[in-house]
Amino acid sequence: MKNLSILGSTGSIGCNVLEIVEMFPDRFSVKALAAKNNISLLAGQIERFRPEIAVVFDEKLAVELGKSLHARPGVEILYGAKGYKAAAKHDSVDMVVTAMVGSAGLMPTLAAIDAGKNIALANKETLVMAGDIVMKRASEKGVRILPVDSEHSAIFQALKGNRRKDLKKILLTASGGPFLNLPENKFNKIRPKDALKHPTWQMGKKISIDSATLMNKGLEIIEAKHLFNVSHEKIEVVIHPQSIIHSMVSYRDGSVLAQLGIPDMKGAIAYAISYPERLPLQQPIPDFTNIGALTFLQPDMEKFPCLSLAFKACKHGGTLPAVLNAANEAAVNAFLNRKISFTDIPAIINKIMKQHVVTENPALTDILKAHKWAGNQAKEEILKYKY
Ligand code: MG
Repeated sequence: MKNLSILGSTGSIGCNVLEIVEMFPDRFSVKALAAKNNISLLAGQIERFRPEIAVVFDEKLAVELGKSLHARPGVEILYGAKGYKAAAKHDSVDMVVTAMVGSAGLMPTLAAIDAGKNIALANKETLVMAGDIVMKRASEKGVRILPVDSEHSAIFQALKGNRRKDLKKILLTASGGPFLNLPENKFNKIRPKDALKHPTWQMGKKISIDSATLMNKGLEIIEAKHLFNVSHEKIEVVIHPQSIIHSMVSYRDGSVLAQLGIPDMKGAIAYAISYPERLPLQQPIPDFTNIGALTFLQPDMEKFPCLSLAFKACKHGGTLPAVLNAANEAAVNAFLNRKISFTDIPAIINKIMKQHVVTENPALTDILKAHKWAGNQAKEEILKYKY
């Protein structure tokens, strides 16, 4: 029996994890559930999965959650940073699934690593912000970090059984998002509801906007760099609109290994939480005879400047990726609240990155300081925009 703590249990990944747990009740047990503010969904999850602790964002929500539970099934309700940390390092937990949205995932993930828990990593921002520190601590603690991100799961699988020195390139595939074929001169008319409609994947709001700007792919480049310990020069982005190939790895003999599947997160999630075993998921395989052509394109960095900003941050390192991430979070939030336009997102990130004086080889405190600075700068910048 593997005991799980799920940070971000009410999000898209969290709900998928719980569906898998429900399919295999003799393999997984849920010991901790942490969410932000979706009390009604969390209350239902508590009654179904009977965790030992449940965590929400603040005290008011904790009280509300307590009231909304019909029978109190012996669950301890905690809140805030302390609560998330407690869920991450809870004694009876073997593995922590980090599926919180954005930068909020960093500190609980570090707490879980320090407590020696294996990580199923869905929160890519953790590695974007502090990849060097996180990977070093994980290796010191003998903690395994298993990717939940579908591309990184694919790369992880394609690297298995090969010598690292034979690796030539990581080919990170991207669907291209909903605006792949939209002419650039229409980009300033894009509304949040257009950007939230992803053609192939079902996801949460933040990641859907990131997929529309291609920042998601940018963050994934930085995630891959840390997860697989490769330089940015070995990572290439390939647009593949059908999302059947989840990513590829090429070797020095010209061989390319790819991992394929239908675009559904369950495969990658199940592999991360049950590694090295593959669970009998009953997922269909792609219908190859009816699928038509699988196509590939080069990404258009002019049309999607977020991707080139992320390459820049990846190459430079230091505190720059944390700044990219914080400015992006603020800009995406402002776009969702209709304070700025779609094309303002990369403009704001670019401006904040240019203003930043990078700290090389940053300590965690430098990263947190840069993160806070960039978020505040971006918020101030956003006020100047009329939309
Ligand atoms: Mg992904």
